[in-house]
Amino acid sequence: MTIDARKTLVNGATALQATDIQHALANAAAGVSLRQVTKKYGPVTAVENVTLDIPAGSYCCLLGPSGCGKTTVLRMIAGHEEITSGDVLIGDRRVNNIPAAKRNTSMMFQSYALFPHMTVWQNIEFGLEMQNISAQERKARVGEMLELVGLSHLGDRKSSQLSGGQQQRIALARSLVTRPQVLMLDEPLSALDENLRVQMRTELRRIQKQFGMTFVQVTHHTEEAFSLSDRVVVMSQGRLDQVATPAEMFRLPASQFVAKFMGDNNIFQGKVLHCAPDPGTGMDVIELGVEGIGSLYSRGYAVPVGSMAACSIRPDLMQIEPYPNAASEKPTPRANHITARIVSIEMTGYVTRVVLMEEKTGKELLYKSPTTAWETGSYAEGQLVTLRWSEGNCVFLPH
Ligand code: ATP
Repeated sequence: MTIDARKTLVNGATALQATDIQHALANAAAGVSLRQVTKKYGPVTAVENVTLDIPAGSYCCLLGPSGCGKTTVLRMIAGHEEITSGDVLIGDRRVNNIPAAKRNTSMMFQSYALFPHMTVWQNIEFGLEMQNISAQERKARVGEMLELVGLSHLGDRKSSQLSGGQQQRIALARSLVTRPQVLMLDEPLSALDENLRVQMRTELRRIQKQFGMTFVQVTHHTEEAFSLSDRVVVMSQGRLDQVATPAEMFRLPASQFVAKFMGDNNIFQGKVLHCAPDPGTGMDVIELGVEGIGSLYSRGYAVPVGSMAACSIRPDLMQIEPYPNAASEKPTPRANHITARIVSIEMTGYVTRVVLMEEKTGKELLYKSPTTAWETGSYAEGQLVTLRWSEGNCVFLPH
């Protein structure tokens, strides 16, 4: 993001004075690059050959299951962990051998790590004292940060006397007061209850956008990563599986791992029976033979016939209709449709989740519908239905 673009965003902000904002902007955000970075702990390879560019002023979330290497990547950028091989750059500065305190980055921890015996003010001021910033500037900057997180009235309170959400805000203020080029956030919302988590992630995103800062966050939660990020990085077993915008990743998961990790996707394993461009669209259409179910069709790219693969369909992109119906009596070629029995219907609020079991194989499937649309139907647990979906919505996934 350019400085002008940042200014445009900032101009929309009313919470801070223009001078404060100019101060904050003075320390322009830097991008982060990892070049073939590997980290080994003895025989354990925690991160393997990772190359990643995080543009300046963007919000990037590292997402993946426990043990996949997310925290190690974050700690190597911060300088809390040595790199076994490869390079880490902040802006255009290679920082491999630069100690954490000199990297001009900041880290916000899951536990917040506030000093309980200090006041809120003192907690935020601490980093500036360490940098020998003058008393006058410290006062201005701490005041600015308290205003930014909306807690100016709590400066004299001991940090141990704050609610979880307030502690989170103070931890954020403390991380930003030194005006880092990159802020790293290690599961910053995990200690909060669901409602507060949603509220605080909106706050985080607002602040990051307002100042055009570079935020790199570790999270286990897909929804959190999608709602916060410009770019999501999914990791598995120390490697990058996919780097994409949330919308791209949601629409087109690049691997079976990503499709599964996002949860809820219906994934079918099979063998490629046929692959050819569709004369109408020119796009490759892949026929996958799925044991017990038959042929399913997806859009993809040229793949060898006979190879093992999978296809994935989102539960909100299927249609449901009572069985038997026209499709079951007179199937059309290249139509994806299967017969399944409704196992359970769960109204979760705006969305209704329907768990089904495919009739021949017993495979569990999920269908999702807006509750308002679902209420107009007349389905019951135990009922046989047809699920259908278009080949265009079905994503081909290599093995
Ligand atoms: P979580 O979400 O559970 O925090 P993670 O994705 O952040 O997991 P890392 O903490 O980066 O994963 O760990 C990656 C791998 O490296 C794991 O197999 C872990 O056991 C291993 N590991 C991490 N730190 C060390 C260490 N100090 N010594 C040995 N192995 C380590």
